[in-house]
Amino acid sequence: MTEAAIEKENKQIARQYKELLRISYRSLSDEDKKLIRKAFDISVEAHKDQRRKSGEAYIFHPIAVAKIVASEIGLDATSIAAALLHDVVEDTKYTLEEIQEMFGETVAKIVDGLTKISSLKKDKDVSLQAENFRKMLLTLNDDVRVIIIKIADRLHNMQTMDVMRPDKQEKIASETLYIYAPLAHRIGLYNIKTELEDLGLKYTEPEVYKDIHTKIKESKEEQDAYIKEFSRVIEDSLNQEELEYEIKGRPKSIYSINRKMKAQNVSFDEVYDKFAIRIIYNSDPANEKFLAWKIYSIVTDHFRPNPTRLRDWISSPKSTGYEALHITVMGPKGRWVEVQIRSSRMNEIAEKGYAAHYKYKQGDVQEDHGIEEWLNKLQEALENPDVNAVDFVEQFKLNLYSKEIFVFTPQGDLKSLPKSSTPLDFAFSIHTEIGLKTRGARVNNKLVPLSHELKSGDQVEIITSENAKPNINWLDYATTARARAKIKSSLKEEKKEIAEEGKAILARKLKAQKIPFNEKSVNELVVFFNLKTSLDLFYRVGIGKIDNQKLKEFANSRSNALVSYIKRKIKKPVIAEDLNKDEITTRYDQLVFGRDEDETLEYKLANCCNPIPGDKVFGFVTVNDGIKVHKKDCPNALQLQSNYAYRIIPAKWIDSSQQDFKAVIKLTGLDNVGLVSEVTQEISSNLNVNMKKINFESLDGVFNGRITLVVKNNSILNKIIDRLKKINGIDKVSRE
Ligand code: MN
Repeated sequence: MTEAAIEKENKQIARQYKELLRISYRSLSDEDKKLIRKAFDISVEAHKDQRRKSGEAYIFHPIAVAKIVASEIGLDATSIAAALLHDVVEDTKYTLEEIQEMFGETVAKIVDGLTKISSLKKDKDVSLQAENFRKMLLTLNDDVRVIIIKIADRLHNMQTMDVMRPDKQEKIASETLYIYAPLAHRIGLYNIKTELEDLGLKYTEPEVYKDIHTKIKESKEEQDAYIKEFSRVIEDSLNQEELEYEIKGRPKSIYSINRKMKAQNVSFDEVYDKFAIRIIYNSDPANEKFLAWKIYSIVTDHFRPNPTRLRDWISSPKSTGYEALHITVMGPKGRWVEVQIRSSRMNEIAEKGYAAHYKYKQGDVQEDHGIEEWLNKLQEALENPDVNAVDFVEQFKLNLYSKEIFVFTPQGDLKSLPKSSTPLDFAFSIHTEIGLKTRGARVNNKLVPLSHELKSGDQVEIITSENAKPNINWLDYATTARARAKIKSSLKEEKKEIAEEGKAILARKLKAQKIPFNEKSVNELVVFFNLKTSLDLFYRVGIGKIDNQKLKEFANSRSNALVSYIKRKIKKPVIAEDLNKDEITTRYDQLVFGRDEDETLEYKLANCCNPIPGDKVFGFVTVNDGIKVHKKDCPNALQLQSNYAYRIIPAKWIDSSQQDFKAVIKLTGLDNVGLVSEVTQEISSNLNVNMKKINFESLDGVFNGRITLVVKNNSILNKIIDRLKKINGIDKVSRE
């Protein structure tokens, strides 16, 4: 480096140091400043020959960590000094004894704790990784500040990870998501937790991160306009009460949007609570709670609240000390929006966690031992000698991430998956090729079926084989959208391939029957076999379902009177959109019984009239021979019906792929005038479905509905659900 460059760097270091003092959340005494200065000087001296991967002087890292500790977390001078020194013993010639001599026991103990954590062997074994975590927590015995500074250290490392190798980035990011983010959450450092999660996602799933990041940016303008509109409505009333307040939007983090998209299998646009509205007001301590409810009252005067979504964290704060009033209201444009009402003190606690708590309680003599009390409380919660390390991490995570699981690859890398994922989901999350070639799976070294539900902490190994390929059953085992999409497209691909072969076979076989292979004959065949498309025809020839015998029947039919029979059976085409194209079915392939046409029973066809699929029929319960099925115009029908009416059961030929099925959907929403009629109208007039049962209940302005529908298939059902969701006032629609 040139002398000028060095001088420039030194100036920058000095500037950073000054800023550190300036941004400290706590006011620093002269003695505090002296301590920090001394720590700074030693750290600069100790790291002077070290550079970070990015090329900058190493000292920038401890300063940055100290800044996070001082400003974002708001810890004391001892912590700031320890943060400046946190890598000194591990990376430089200085010993712990020297640190103790220079800075005293407290700083030395914290630095010791931090050194121990970083020197723990980064083993890939599951239990070891969890054990390390436990050890890290146990250093809390010495000083809780160890863990907080460690979190700050991790945050800065995550912020500056761009220069690292991708495999290292992924490993560190997974560890952050698995250990540090939940820990930050537990300690009440919400902002840091959110940043750790977003950065974690950025490096574990870069594309997902980028995608959501871009979409958030694109929707920013709309969001601002929305908040403005919301504010406009309540501003006058708030001002009338002479409240000092600020209204702002609080966007949901990229990580939580992604989690929601995955857990509920919805798109970005379908995540309805992408941001909350925050009202922060000033108040003296005595009126704090009263004012919160006053604001609540004003908000709900203008916007209808959802009473099931009221959270009063003021009367009973969270264990982390979080206080606020949360309410979900029907905001402008008929959209649900969460409103968080907090005083500026509550807001500080929410952002800084305990440090702010401590600051506000300092004046109170009884609460003077706040930090110790907090430490004890944390200690109690975190330390339990009866639980082994893995269980401990599991328990710990269970409460925080109940919709997500973390599993390990055989190499010890962490993967996050939605809850109730299976080995197939895991395989496809590793790589599509691995997913497609999955033959089996081992979980924690034991063979498991592909339908096995994975749990957090499982180590999953996929057994692949060149010959393995997806089959239709896989769709029952795969839950993630990614795996399902890949399986479906592979199945479709396979069907096409078989159809390709079938086409060649068919051409050959027709030639043998002296029938030309052309569009006309193919169409005739499709009609003859009651199929939908030529692809279905070729596929069935390919898998051998349409064999020589059947083709012979066709050949005969062409040359005799049966032709007229075929013509009779040509039905008007079915609307393609409503059919599941994957399904291979013959029309009228199933006989159903009963008034509701929903029972499948054992039966025999009567010899007297020989009914064939499609005929109008009825079932007759015989004494010794089960159910016999007769044509309605069977010569014996009249006699049977008049003498044994009680033994007749209705029967009907159906197309099983077109069979109606019953589905129950549940709705919740606000009990607007006309909502019920809008719902029923949407179902009965807009879409061709039957409503069997309908039941609405209304309680305190919120209604719950249960509707039993009869529909042809899932895609129609999903369409109805989508349309119902769009009705103003509807909150949730789901299948029971
Ligand atoms: Mn460090």
